[in-house]
Amino acid sequence: MTRRYDLQVHTNASPCSSTPPERVAEAAADAGLDGIAVTDHDTLANVDAVRDAAPADLEVIAGVEVTTTEGHLLALDVTEAPPRTDPLTVIDRVHEQGGVAVLSHPFDTLRQYYKTDLEALADVVDGIEAMNSRCVRRRFNDRAASFAAAHDLPTTGGSDAHFPMEVDRAYTVVEGGGSLVDAVREGRVRPGGRGRYLSGHVATKLHQFRTASSRAVGILTSGRFP
Ligand SMILES: [Zn+2]
Ligand SMILES: [Zn+2]
Repeated sequence: MTRRYDLQVHTNASPCSSTPPERVAEAAADAGLDGIAVTDHDTLANVDAVRDAAPADLEVIAGVEVTTTEGHLLALDVTEAPPRTDPLTVIDRVHEQGGVAVLSHPFDTLRQYYKTDLEALADVVDGIEAMNSRCVRRRFNDRAASFAAAHDLPTTGGSDAHFPMEVDRAYTVVEGGGSLVDAVREGRVRPGGRGRYLSGHVATKLHQFRTASSRAVGILTSGRFP
């Protein structure tokens, strides 16, 4: 038995996404996923809303994409957002809550990535995201996969969707039953789907541009300047 989870999905609780929670639940259900992790930047604010909107057969994992002082880190199955601090402390906080910690797009040098402490991180982290559909260069995902292999660490995949059409572009295949976090801990996971997805970044830029322009229009029409 296998199940398919998209372990990195954003909603409009992230500044760079405008997707309402209901649309995320709908896109995941339409894609036929068994589960998703809602992983907004440094907040759990929309997890309950996605859960409320999700059909009964779609599992919703409470996650956070933590902004550490180095790269991004996925905290999966947590009850509060870990602090934005150094990655080793963040991993500790995730474990204290009974969750698992996965390094998110760890070698994507076009985004926030990990530079130091890699051996120390490999000793304590639960997994490595080796397929992120927003990694525009194949070698970013390849390097994550070889780092995981060299350190015998489980690998996951996630779309990093900021828009509904991106959900399920990359995912995690789970072998066997039980909870998702146990499957990660026991290494019964592997990434699937595709990376090198550029149009999502273009859509994000357009979204930022639209937000900035409406702000500018607001300033002009209000006659006030910030
Ligand atoms: Zn990220
Ligand atoms: Zn993300």
